[in-house]
Amino acid sequence: LPRTFVLIKPDAVRRGLVGEVLSRFERKGLTIVALKQVQVTPELADEHYAEHVERDFYPPLRTFITSGPSVAVVLAGDEVVEAVRLLNGATDGRKAAPGTIRGDLSLSNRENLVHGSDSAESAAREIALWFPELEG
Ligand code: ATP
Repeated sequence: LPRTFVLIKPDAVRRGLVGEVLSRFERKGLTIVALKQVQVTPELADEHYAEHVERDFYPPLRTFITSGPSVAVVLAGDEVVEAVRLLNGATDGRKAAPGTIRGDLSLSNRENLVHGSDSAESAAREIALWFPELEG
């Protein structure tokens, strides 16, 4: 079964929304393959967001993503990469559709609660980065 990587970001942990977010994935029928709380370091942030490190929005994003614990998750299921992106909603919580995690629970472009891999290739890279202990 295909897998994807999800990061439940520090805003969700601070707001007590980890259960709410995980519950939406579980109710969709996705399977939790791995899960751990992580204090993201600046180095890990830079590797994860390698495609964004030169962008103007990256310094505050790095400050945010390292600002407290996150929860890293590997999910499995049919078309899981697409399913998670649909459940997460558009990047900007102010524009995300109601019914999505961001649309229902976020009012921010940066503090948007969750990350989900954007392709099977990204998922493989990110799972290896965040869960080196996990076997393929
Ligand atoms: P994610 O990768 O977190 O699932 P995404 O794929 O919807 O989100 P990307 O374009 O990959 O969005 O951006 C990665 C993250 O960078 C976003 O989730 C958001 O936290 C932050 N970000 C992106 N664009 C902006 C922006 N213009 N201003 C502030 N933060 C931004």
